[in-house]
Amino acid sequence: MTQQIWLEYARNQDGKLVHIEDSRRGLGSGLLCPFCGAEAIARQGVEKSWHFAHRAEESCAPARKMSKIVIPLYDDFFLGLKPRRLAELIEFASIGRIADSRVQRRMEAADLIAWNPYARNGRGIWELTKRGKIPLGALSVGLFAEIQDAELRRFLDFLPADGVDAEIVREHWARLQASALYFLKVEIPGLELLHKIGMTGRSVEERVAEIRADLSADYGPVSVSVLGCWPGLGRLERYCKFRFQHSWHPLGTRSEYFNFADVKPVLRELRRLR
Ligand SMILES: [Zn+2]
Repeated sequence: MTQQIWLEYARNQDGKLVHIEDSRRGLGSGLLCPFCGAEAIARQGVEKSWHFAHRAEESCAPARKMSKIVIPLYDDFFLGLKPRRLAELIEFASIGRIADSRVQRRMEAADLIAWNPYARNGRGIWELTKRGKIPLGALSVGLFAEIQDAELRRFLDFLPADGVDAEIVREHWARLQASALYFLKVEIPGLELLHKIGMTGRSVEERVAEIRADLSADYGPVSVSVLGCWPGLGRLERYCKFRFQHSWHPLGTRSEYFNFADVKPVLRELRRLR
């Protein structure tokens, strides 16, 4: 998943980075791979997410893998934890204690758990920290937003001044800053009530009209209404999808839909976003 944004950009004839959503479909657009300068084509399929590919079979990806910059807390929420460490975290979250003191010390050092001396009638317990809740999708979107913002800013401060990776990251950051998170109610006759979470760099009205047209083609008349829109917070879209993945409800090939048993707490949580 983290590799995705490097495939979302190609370079135009003026040397500017162009996002896949802003490019025209298919060949002949004169776009180039930002890394090797080979001809790039936009693949805007239904099944896979839109991306650029080399027109020729070969790819320069293996050659540049080593220098790849990973954006923290953007589309990967496992904090770089190895499967074993992640399993320990999940186990702690489910049983509330750790038998092995070395594991406990390691988790405390990694800021995943902390001792709360006041919990449980003053006897104290180990608790997940805000950070420790992230890989479990257990941190509210609002608290996550604060941590993500701090980490992204620190990361951008230390980004190399040059290099294509850094250039793409900066371009993507600007794009995220200019995009809004939206939350929609989608009513399709004959189906249960659905919701959609997404991000857009255009106006939410424009996006809603597009979604309505897309769904109507398959389902007939549908009703799509905006429950919330948060300008500048498009960067939270991926975490929302991660946090609410248990309510995912794919609609054919469309994967951004949710079927919440109770939407009220979700809405309450999102409405706290600034
Ligand atoms: Zn290339």
